[in-house]
Amino acid sequence: AVEPTAQVGLVGLAVMGQNLALNIAEKGFDIAVYNRSYEKTKDTVARAERESLSDKLKGYESVDDFIAALQKPRKIIMLVKAGAPVDATIATLKDKLEPGDMIIDGGNEWYTNTERRGKEMEEKQIAYIGMGVSGGEEGARYGPSMMPGGPKEAYSFIEPIVTKVAAQVNDGPCVTYIGPGGAGNYVKMVHNGIEYGDMQLIGEAYDVLSTIGGLSADQLASTFADWNKGMLDSFLVEITAKIMAQKDTLLNDGSALVSKILDKSGSKGTGMWTMEEAVRRAVPAPTIMAALEARYLSALKDERIEAAKVLKGPEPANAKEKLTVSQEQLVSDVQAALYASKICSYAQGMNLIRTAANENGWELDLGEIARIWKGGCIIRAKFLDRIKAAYVKDSKLPSLLVDPDFAKELESAQAAWRNVVSLAVQSGIAVPAMSGSISYYDTYRRATLPSSQMVQAQRDFFGSHTYQRTDTNGVYHTRWSSDG
Ligand code: NAP
Repeated sequence: AVEPTAQVGLVGLAVMGQNLALNIAEKGFDIAVYNRSYEKTKDTVARAERESLSDKLKGYESVDDFIAALQKPRKIIMLVKAGAPVDATIATLKDKLEPGDMIIDGGNEWYTNTERRGKEMEEKQIAYIGMGVSGGEEGARYGPSMMPGGPKEAYSFIEPIVTKVAAQVNDGPCVTYIGPGGAGNYVKMVHNGIEYGDMQLIGEAYDVLSTIGGLSADQLASTFADWNKGMLDSFLVEITAKIMAQKDTLLNDGSALVSKILDKSGSKGTGMWTMEEAVRRAVPAPTIMAALEARYLSALKDERIEAAKVLKGPEPANAKEKLTVSQEQLVSDVQAALYASKICSYAQGMNLIRTAANENGWELDLGEIARIWKGGCIIRAKFLDRIKAAYVKDSKLPSLLVDPDFAKELESAQAAWRNVVSLAVQSGIAVPAMSGSISYYDTYRRATLPSSQMVQAQRDFFGSHTYQRTDTNGVYHTRWSSDG
């Protein structure tokens, strides 16, 4: 018979599950693992042997043995494909569990699915936690950022494990109890939306510097490496420098591999969910939206090839002629534009989290959320310390843009920011995330918006939607003169 020796169990041994299981074993916890198809369990056990972790990690072919191997209350982490596979996995486990046990879904799950399952499990007195895990394969293996949400009492049982398994930064492990219900999944979803924004902004910086600035791949590699030493210090800028340095080994012609990659980007849904949520909750998030739309536009490769033949405008091939400043100046301007746009993007993401929290009755700590993103995850960056500081100073801050320190930085970046966006527009190089960001900034800082005055007037004209006045209280409707 199988003895209940494992402190934690993990189901789902694809990339994320396998690596997280080894990480948990390495941190000294006894772990039992299981996968629907036995092949992956065997792989994981073999890998544990190679990594000298086989005394900590045990694999099981049957669910019954897997469950029997777990100490009570049982804690089972699931890392299977989100959606129906999660329901299928729960169905194989739930009747074998007892009151007090808990299931932790580590996948990128839509947050209301977690809330539904949480309610279903509550009837069986099984606690259900939705815990977003970020950091990809590396993060899972060596220390991810984790965003657990659900019943707080249940979190206290897994806290000793997750705090050791998470990435560690100067102010603690990159995990914290996020909030009730699907709050953990929600925060992970917005994290991914912010990730879309960061990636697109870096992509635009690359386009402007290479297409307009004429920087070579080697110059770009050292530019991004330099940026990574300053205020843009982040995982994504770091890997961008490495990407620029990578040569094409297929053709071996000395060119950068990135220039050979088909320009069609995919997406798996969390960016789309973030925007669906932003739209539904009326939270403006143009930087992240631009990033999502850029992926959709990129996917229209065949249409773009045809359109390129008929739609006229400044030729990207001639963009270098538009450059009137030195390469050094352009590099410095693009750096400022990227940083300022990034502030806008994080402001949008944080405001979406806050709005959802208010509407769902979650009490979330935005400063702590910024802190646990400092390590382990894809958007890890030095800059998150500043975001944390802004919310520590003022937890009710309506927008990161009005934090006095960020406001000062936006002010000093903006001449460069405007130059870059104008230069790109003049050159026919789309920079939707950067220009979306500056429009967001310019709209937010303008006390009176003539375009909105006009829209309200039109709404009243054709639909009697009424309007208010700037100079006196009350609600007005005008019989607009139709002749004139
Ligand atoms: P995945 O490819 O999303 O899922 C594969 C796992 O799901 C396998 O264990 C598979 O079992 C199981 N599965 C699929 N359909 C199933 C079903 N109908 N019933 C039961 N099990 C089923 O794996 P992943 O890439 O490791 O990701 C796991 C989760 O983490 C996902 O939610 C993903 O979005 C999230 N995530 C992934 C990353 C990443 O970098 N990959 C990063 C962060 C978060 P079989 O082996 O039997 O097919």
